[in-house]
Amino acid sequence: MPEQKDYIYYDHTISLCVVCHRRISAKIVFADGKVWLHKFCREHGRQEVVIATDIEYYRQIRNFNKKSEYPIRPHTETLYGCPYDCGICPDHEQHSCLTLVEITERCNLTCPTCYAESSPVHGRHRSLKEVENMLDAIVESEGEPDVVQLSGGEPTIHPHFFEILDLAKARPIKHLMVNTNGIRIAQDKGFAEKLATYMPGFEIYLQFDSFRPSVLQKLRGRDLSEIRNKALEILNELNLSTTLVVTVEKGLNEDEIGDIIKFALKQKCVRGVTFQPTSVSGRLDNFDPQTAKITNTEIRKNIIDQSEIFSSADLIPVPCNPDALIMAYALKMKDEVVPLTRLIDPEMLLNNSKNTIVYEQDKMLHQYVLKLFSTGNSPENAAGTMKHLLCCLPEIVSPDIGYDQLFRIIVMNFMDAWDFDVRAIKKSCVHIVHDDGRIIPFETMNLFYRNGYQAKLNSLRNIPI
Ligand code: SF4
Ligand code: SF4
Repeated sequence: MPEQKDYIYYDHTISLCVVCHRRISAKIVFADGKVWLHKFCREHGRQEVVIATDIEYYRQIRNFNKKSEYPIRPHTETLYGCPYDCGICPDHEQHSCLTLVEITERCNLTCPTCYAESSPVHGRHRSLKEVENMLDAIVESEGEPDVVQLSGGEPTIHPHFFEILDLAKARPIKHLMVNTNGIRIAQDKGFAEKLATYMPGFEIYLQFDSFRPSVLQKLRGRDLSEIRNKALEILNELNLSTTLVVTVEKGLNEDEIGDIIKFALKQKCVRGVTFQPTSVSGRLDNFDPQTAKITNTEIRKNIIDQSEIFSSADLIPVPCNPDALIMAYALKMKDEVVPLTRLIDPEMLLNNSKNTIVYEQDKMLHQYVLKLFSTGNSPENAAGTMKHLLCCLPEIVSPDIGYDQLFRIIVMNFMDAWDFDVRAIKKSCVHIVHDDGRIIPFETMNLFYRNGYQAKLNSLRNIPI
């Protein structure tokens, strides 16, 4: 009698060895109610990794898709095969919804978890000329970039920080963000007041991982509770648009997800929360991926279980990059919070919608929905889009939505060697501009393209799959 395997074989892809990062063949299988990558490296043996804990949701991801949008031109050739040709190479399937410019490698913290390995003594600040060239590379690639995020290291410690903001503002960038740990904002109100003059089209992306000092100590090497409170107090006073960014680890802070959403909804300046599973790259002290790495579907379930506002119908895959991104919208009213995603027919976001013909007749509505569910649409721009959209929907009296009333939840996974899937990486839409002008997916930058990684990449490029 043939023996039955204890899993269902679903698909096949190319992944990476978790040890040596060479490309290896991987099966995607369903077992124990979870989605697994089963892979084999001829040097490091068999590897089994959970990539989703909700099989039905994972199946649905494949239907949330849309025609790829491509940058104005590729920056590299396809020579070695994905992911060794970044980028953007002609084989990539998504333009940059959001591009990071790392204006410095330095930071005023030395977080045990830092993909850029920043610290007060690591690397250097980039010169104004280098930053200008990087901004120009993004504009050359995108024309009018949707969202550009100044990042690092800690961008606010750059000695020419405001000159860099001016350089960015002088370019046709639709929405500019500053990714920060909040220390400078908390300690220098004048600095924050000057930041507020860059609104509209400007937002703070504020690290906010936990209410518990022990968690902050583990993730950031320091109890930043007071810094976070002070920074938010100032940002609220200025009503400076802010997204809270939460790094999530299993068994560490996943139980705080509901409380963080509740807290965020009460802050005048906060337009949303982004949850990011820790990705295995850079400096990762005291992190064991086997036990601490969390999946997008686990975070999604925690949001549903812990928040009184969002249900399963509210948290849906984002069509431009559905494997990596989950999104939900809500409206902050005076006394209540109204979840909005459930009002939108998911058919409008499916690439195999049986209603395609209907939506062909109403392309505007279809485009509004696609635009809304994109990382390239900032909460500020999304308010206008949402207003138009609700006006188009029957049975809904559209309220007058201002951008400070729209609240957005994003779950954003950056794949690493553990959960790497070549099919999904081609849809990556969060990119980093390299200092040589290439535009590189965030995930592959951290695996292969940071300065100093060239020798490793060269050796990998010549190993056959
Ligand atoms: S990740 Fe994208 S840009 Fe990089 S090699 Fe693959 S297809 Fe090309
Ligand atoms: S994670 Fe952010 S705050 Fe922490 S060391 Fe790295 S750049 Fe600095």
